[in-house]
Amino acid sequence: MRRTCLLVLMLCVAQALSAQQQNLPGLKQEAATEVDKLQTLTQQMVDEIFSFSELGFQEFETLRYLTGILEKNGFHMEREVAGIPTAWVASYGSGKPVIAFITDIDCIPRASQKPGVAYHDPLIEGAPGHGEGHNSGMAVNVTAALALKKLMAEHHLAGTIKIFPGVAEELLGTKAFYVRAGLFRDVDIVLGSHVSSDFSTSYATGNGRTSGLVSVQYFFHGKAAHAAMAPWEGRSALDAVELMDTGWDFRREHLRPAQRSHRVIISGGDQPNVVPSEAAVWYYFRELDYSHIKGLYDLGNSIADSAAKMTGTTVDHKLVGSAWPAFFNKTIAEAQQKNIEAVGMPKWSDADQTLAKALQKEIGTKVEGLAEKVEPLSEPAKEQTGGPSDDLGDISWNVPMTYLFYPANIPNLPGHSWPNAVAMATPIAHKGSTAGAKVQALTALDFLLQPQLVQQAWDYFRTVQTKDIHYSSFLGPEDKPAIEMNKEKMEKFLPQLKKFYYDPSRYKSYLEQLGIQYPTVKTQP
Ligand SMILES: [Zn+2]
Repeated sequence: MRRTCLLVLMLCVAQALSAQQQNLPGLKQEAATEVDKLQTLTQQMVDEIFSFSELGFQEFETLRYLTGILEKNGFHMEREVAGIPTAWVASYGSGKPVIAFITDIDCIPRASQKPGVAYHDPLIEGAPGHGEGHNSGMAVNVTAALALKKLMAEHHLAGTIKIFPGVAEELLGTKAFYVRAGLFRDVDIVLGSHVSSDFSTSYATGNGRTSGLVSVQYFFHGKAAHAAMAPWEGRSALDAVELMDTGWDFRREHLRPAQRSHRVIISGGDQPNVVPSEAAVWYYFRELDYSHIKGLYDLGNSIADSAAKMTGTTVDHKLVGSAWPAFFNKTIAEAQQKNIEAVGMPKWSDADQTLAKALQKEIGTKVEGLAEKVEPLSEPAKEQTGGPSDDLGDISWNVPMTYLFYPANIPNLPGHSWPNAVAMATPIAHKGSTAGAKVQALTALDFLLQPQLVQQAWDYFRTVQTKDIHYSSFLGPEDKPAIEMNKEKMEKFLPQLKKFYYDPSRYKSYLEQLGIQYPTVKTQP
């Protein structure tokens, strides 16, 4: 009797699912309409997070604001996941499939900039700012999730949606810890999103212009002494830093051209008449695959040890970030591409184009305004050249995932600096985020309603992507998230930043609150 009931139930579920599958185009239409209805909230999220301007690991206002919206909308919250105070997971629905959205939330040091102004004009001199555009990602993903929630409730769609924040992405500081904490163990599909000037997705290694990395800080310890009276009594930690750097630069000539390595000296002593007893240098070691990255890491450690020996100092190091080179899923990318083409580029106004061209002219790059066409899905590049890194690479080796680039910024910008913040609280970012939210929602529907597509994505993951390469974390068991980073920098600017937080109850937009005419451009001579 019970078996008959179960059989009937399974049949009913199968019938309901196939009816929903047939109605997929209708549901997608509905999702796009829902996203359009949420445009005001999307704009508010873009502007609000822009105004918080929080550096990695210090995203407390962003956390409060977003979890507030999600909780109010019936999402279940888990806080402080993976031992990171500003990390959380929001979920809605139940059962399989589990579709996860992820996007970064942190900003860039010294990138403060008035939005809508096509020349360098910081809101607060020296303060952090969204000079990467991470303020728009959650507007994309949360909008998509809210639209999906409505559809799931109304049409009794099975499945779970989850939202993750990319905390401290600029430090490559968290995703490996998310993976180690098992946060993706039950996830079937991951849909990442990142601000861009074009509307595109990719699969496998994409254009080949990304690398993986380890981010390591070396702390040298010497002995202080009067630098003129008894220098022979001292042992300089700064000497060790300089010798390490010189050693690395000589060795660089004999490394593969694919490597990229760079450093900043984070402390170099206090004043010249004291032999520096403490000094530290911070390296990013980038390469194309796990074994080459590991090779650079080992080499960095041995050059540091050698520098310590030469100077009679000691050294210890701390891994503060790591990232596998990302690899994206072909099945998801193909589904996503169709949705990108269906949604199409936002309609830019003359004001949007004027801002874009004026900024391009101001920074001396190609003046071509905003992109008007979506990008086709291209074959992965035959050769990897390397370039920047993103710590979501670690997720991509554990669950099938893609990365949606949505058009919320101006083309031809340098990245990680004030020009990339100019458009990020303007109609360019608002419209681009709405377009991105539609694609995220539509692609999630593809996988919520077609179990065979989930299967196909996993087949690609198992038989192509991870056929010969198996994930192994760069993290040692003793490595911990560097949650103290940026604390002092953020505390320094917090009182000033607070005065500029966006208040949507009083102003329709952040531009209106700041009294900025859109666009503000230098008058032509
Ligand atoms: Zn980014």
